[in-house]
Amino acid sequence: MGLELPVKIPVAAPLDDYTALKAEIDAAIQRSLKSGFYILGPEVQSFESEFAKFVGVDHAVGVANGTDAVLLALQGCGLEPGDEVITVSHTAVATVCAVELAGATPALADIRRDTFVMDVTQAASLITPRTKAIVPVHLYGHPVPMDEIMAFAERHGLWVVEDCAQAHGARWKGRRIGSWGHAAAFSFYPTKNLGAIGDGGAVVTNDLKIAERIHLLRQYGWQTRYISTVCGRNSRLDELQAALLRVKLKHLDDDNARRREIAALYTEVLTGTAIAPPSVAPQAEHVFHQYTVRTPQRDALSSFLKERGIGSAILYPVPIHKQPAYENRVRCGTMTETERAAAEILCLPVHPRLTDAQVEEVCRALSDFSKSAAG
Ligand SMILES: *Cc1c(COP(=O)(O)O)cnc(C)c1O
Repeated sequence: MGLELPVKIPVAAPLDDYTALKAEIDAAIQRSLKSGFYILGPEVQSFESEFAKFVGVDHAVGVANGTDAVLLALQGCGLEPGDEVITVSHTAVATVCAVELAGATPALADIRRDTFVMDVTQAASLITPRTKAIVPVHLYGHPVPMDEIMAFAERHGLWVVEDCAQAHGARWKGRRIGSWGHAAAFSFYPTKNLGAIGDGGAVVTNDLKIAERIHLLRQYGWQTRYISTVCGRNSRLDELQAALLRVKLKHLDDDNARRREIAALYTEVLTGTAIAPPSVAPQAEHVFHQYTVRTPQRDALSSFLKERGIGSAILYPVPIHKQPAYENRVRCGTMTETERAAAEILCLPVHPRLTDAQVEEVCRALSDFSKSAAG
């Protein structure tokens, strides 16, 4: 085996995220260290209210990670073992893990060809008398049409838990995602649009009862210290992560704007070539957690970029219903678009720490590849 070529332009750069805000972050970490409060103290409380305000909801509850956020949001709504939950197969496996951790049964819908998010019309074919919730995933940072989802859920009496792990700050029809459903889950995994320096997550909701239930569930079911009123668990966001997230939250809108700016440059280069740029619905404000192109020459494009030191990734190479843990076991609709996407997609570097020179290098590579592929 030959030596791996160095990646000059990686798909994610969490260290650069830190360096860009080093002074502010170091001060916040020092403040938190010196406070002597390390679990559920003032930083978590402040982050929760700042994040709720950012999303435009009444309550945010910090939890240990994004998977727990989906799980606790579902449990907070009242989901019980044996219930069924509709979501998609083209997502991070965490979405489906969380449904099963709640003791519920997932049913997986196909995605739309244009924007890679849930096809609401197909979700309808998965409804049974046991269906209790739907988990739309704002994949890559593109919002799911939430007005359609809410109308569908209302018709069938379903709870809506938005999986916002890839879409912090995105909007549908001018309103932030995370503020549409009964509850919504966020992940702060380091490479997400809002990323911690370890694991972290949050559930947001406008429903006080749901927020209160999640407060109990995240800490042993405690109503007051040492007295459990329900069976809970330990899923807390810690103070150091919250201190850092408060700094990064202030820069999130700017970072998302930079992602959109880079995306627009790529789209300009790709329009009219054999590499299809991602579509953006007119009602959507996309936050480009990923910039995902589609081409039948996906593997050739990936190698071409690699030779020039440009990283790329396939999110996701194998749909959930084809993975060993789930194959022949989870119920799903026709998976035509999901399977086509898995074969054709490639995610290009779009993180906000890319320099103009790096973005130009990616543009040049895309243009050179499409010319060589056409000729
Ligand atoms: C990252 C992610 C999660 C899970 O988040 P963790 O913090 O890694 O548990 C859930 N859903 C989606 C769509 C994700 O991208």
